[in-house]
Amino acid sequence: MRKEPRAADPYVRFSSFMATRCMTKQFVPFVCLNCGEKLLLHTSPKLYCSVGCSQEAELVRYVRRCIKDGRIKRPDVLEAIQIRLAHVVAGGYQKQERHIPPDVRQTVIVREKGRCRICGQPGTEIDHIEGSSIRLENLQLLCDTCHNKKTRTNIVEVRAGDEGYATIKAKHDQFWERAEARHPMRICDDEENWTGLWHMLLAECRQALNKKTGSRGS
Ligand SMILES: [Zn+2]
Ligand SMILES: [Zn+2]
Repeated sequence: MRKEPRAADPYVRFSSFMATRCMTKQFVPFVCLNCGEKLLLHTSPKLYCSVGCSQEAELVRYVRRCIKDGRIKRPDVLEAIQIRLAHVVAGGYQKQERHIPPDVRQTVIVREKGRCRICGQPGTEIDHIEGSSIRLENLQLLCDTCHNKKTRTNIVEVRAGDEGYATIKAKHDQFWERAEARHPMRICDDEENWTGLWHMLLAECRQALNKKTGSRGS
């Protein structure tokens, strides 16, 4: 079900705007913009099949902007991208964030007096010390730098011959191909026009949804 990338077509020679116009026409509702899988549940208008797909597309657009304005050459930017990419390849990084309710978050911040537990700088991230339990004793406040350092040590480097290497390499290759493509390969990769584009796509999606369910109207 994976869509073939379009940028390889030799006759795709439009400006970015024209390419976007063309791609909008090719928009198919109820298909994930990022992976091309059919969306099974469509009770509400959705553009992606999963949080992981939405995050991957967001990261593609972010990296495309970083490549354009040169930020990609900064080691700290590249490191942050690699960490996010490792999470995306593992199926999305929502697992870390999503289970901490705001009041628990606030309790941790107050308990740590707003400081990173490792270096004492102002804290920005609630970190699970181990695993995913949100018991207060498993949570700590860290600053960005310390959190990145910790996350980095949790990332396992996968080498040729390791289990899952081919799959992970393919996902990385596919990601960088999209990030480095001259013109956006998918609608959701269009870093220049996305802000206006997603409204349009969501509206189209809503329309298609109404058409499906409209006959049942009151
Ligand atoms: Zn998807
Ligand atoms: Zn710190």
